[in-house]
Amino acid sequence: MPSLFELSLPDLTALVTGWGQPAFRAKQIWGWAYQRLAPSFDAMTDLPKDLRQRLKAEVQFGALTQALDVHSRDGGTNKVLFRLADGRQIETVLMHYDRRRTACISTQAGCAMGCVFCATGQMGFDRNLTPGEIVEQVLWMGRLLKKKDDALSNVVIMGMGEPFHNYAATLAAVDRLEDPDGFAFGARRFTVSTVGLVPMIEKFAGEHRQVNLAVSLHAATDDLRSELLPINKKYPLNALIAACRQYVAATGRRLTFEWALIEGKNDTPAQAQALIKLLSHPKFPCHVNVIPLNPPHDYAGAASTRERVAAFKEILDAGGIPCTVRVRRGIDINAGCGQLRASQIENAK
Ligand code: SAH
Ligand code: SF4
Repeated sequence: MPSLFELSLPDLTALVTGWGQPAFRAKQIWGWAYQRLAPSFDAMTDLPKDLRQRLKAEVQFGALTQALDVHSRDGGTNKVLFRLADGRQIETVLMHYDRRRTACISTQAGCAMGCVFCATGQMGFDRNLTPGEIVEQVLWMGRLLKKKDDALSNVVIMGMGEPFHNYAATLAAVDRLEDPDGFAFGARRFTVSTVGLVPMIEKFAGEHRQVNLAVSLHAATDDLRSELLPINKKYPLNALIAACRQYVAATGRRLTFEWALIEGKNDTPAQAQALIKLLSHPKFPCHVNVIPLNPPHDYAGAASTRERVAAFKEILDAGGIPCTVRVRRGIDINAGCGQLRASQIENAK
């Protein structure tokens, strides 16, 4: 049985007209699913009853089942663990801060990249998510907010998995959510984060999209980056930064670098100086987000202290590299990438 969110509007139109229904019914279903954020076929109250029955019998209303729903003590972070149709699990996070409502969504069950400080990386790779499974995470969070007369303002593709390792499905999901006759979420409200798959950054640059790009850098020398992010052995810093420059040149857009500060590893003055060198000669429009590590179970590294975070930022400031210190959110609910699923596995042992 197909899931509603795997279907494009032409797919849906072909399906309902094949049942002898007029084509406009497909648009009506589309509007319910993507604009009015209906939670079920039953909620689509102005569809004829026989059509609703047929839909229920032949189309699955989504493929995600909630396995766990946790809220941080401060109420700012809500994390949902979903079970997929094949029993695999993924996580989606909803963050409330200031006036922003940001969904952090997953693109794969597990991840093949093996970054040593990442809970998802330590699980290994299960499979790619489909466009429908990616789309549905966003709609789910949209529905939760709608109940409180609120709405999503941003989507960050920074949950489990490497989006550029599942490039086509990720961008198909973005396209679906951008549809002006559907969810109508503007491209600039998305941010996609990559570990640094150079050929995909180049491909993305060539598409001239308005979607924001973030690159997980975390180290400014090849030795250290290869130790933390094994993919660096395949795409070392020279190639990565060249692709980033190409992206900025092709799109005219600023790029964000992410840096999780690990005590004594990548929070040293030497790393800060190496980072300045890497992003200068000549400088290009970019921004570094530093965040203290969210320590996962299986990694011995610790988060940098407040003093070391401040010292790191000070060196970047002096070197003319724009830098923002981000706050860790939802620590008490394992809101770091992959940490909730990892903690469930841990509990089950
Ligand atoms: N695979 C993509 C997107 C998902 S990870 C990527 O790596 O960019 C999203 C971000 O969380 C990345 O910047 C990643 O490096 C970071 N991250 C992973 N584990 C972390 C941890 N324990 N503490 C802080 N940031 C972490
Ligand atoms: Fe995968 Fe990103 Fe985690 Fe690395 S940090 S293992 S690329 S999800």
